[in-house]
Amino acid sequence: MKEFRADLHCHSTYSDGTESPEDLVRKAIEIGLSGFSITDHDSIDAYPRALPIAKELGLEMISGVEFSSSLHGESVHILAYSFALDNIIIQEFCQKHKKRRENRNRQILQNLAEQNIVLSEDEMVSSMPSNHHEQRTIGRPHIAQAMVQKGYVESISEAFKKYLGEGKCCYASGESFTTEETLDVIHRAKGLAVIAHPHLVLKQDVLNQLLKMNFDGLECYYGRFLPDYHKRWLKIAEKKGLFITGGSDFHGSIKPEIHLGCSWIDEEKFRILQNHFKANSLQKDDGQF
Ligand code: AMP
Ligand code: ZN
Ligand code: FE
Ligand code: FE
Repeated sequence: MKEFRADLHCHSTYSDGTESPEDLVRKAIEIGLSGFSITDHDSIDAYPRALPIAKELGLEMISGVEFSSSLHGESVHILAYSFALDNIIIQEFCQKHKKRRENRNRQILQNLAEQNIVLSEDEMVSSMPSNHHEQRTIGRPHIAQAMVQKGYVESISEAFKKYLGEGKCCYASGESFTTEETLDVIHRAKGLAVIAHPHLVLKQDVLNQLLKMNFDGLECYYGRFLPDYHKRWLKIAEKKGLFITGGSDFHGSIKPEIHLGCSWIDEEKFRILQNHFKANSLQKDDGQF
């Protein structure tokens, strides 16, 4: 029998991924995944397109989203899972993030212009493929890609390294939502809050603070599966009573080294999140996934 694998972290064209929701679902089936979640940055708009095809092809999905937050000035990504997709609290929070990003991206474009790097909003928005530009979350990868396309830099990583990374000359943090308020939003929406890619939290005191907050889960398996990487996080999850989650953080061709399904969780761990999703979606269509 096929091994049950669930990849719970990936991005579609509704944020900074290069694959449409339908193609992500097809790809997930092709590589033998049984469980799946699309976790776009600050958006759940992929779901009306992903769910019908997932249902048709027999891929079990749970709701997901990746929120950016700030803990005393440090950037922390939080994954939310298993909320009902029609939950108004989550939807409104995604809208607030959209506004936040519009202002912040405008500031970054201004900072770039001061370095004689001239990009229009249109060039930024259309730098990555999609047929729904107006609806999606625009992030620094779109700006980086537009810089590559106009020949200002050779690669996306060069754009981050020289201009867009935190603390670099054109970086702007803009308004941000705190980790505490993000946790509160997720819990009011009856979702599960998970600390994303904890190894990217470089300051030990920030990690310690996060582990004292009321998160539900820890992303123990992440990205390119490195031997032993997950062991540290599994130990912490067990000690703190946190759910164990995992996923690839697939972004498609802008991060070609990361493959869909390269990190995953087993059936037992997936069912915990899925049961929560079904309970939240009770008597709604979504609950059938
Ligand atoms: P934003 O949410 O707009 O601030 O952009 C953050 C996103 O940019 C992250 O989620 C990553 O997908 C991507 N990113 C961050 N740092 C880098 C980097 N050094 N190279 C390529 N992509 C990056
Ligand atoms: Zn991303
Ligand atoms: Fe992230
Ligand atoms: Fe991500």
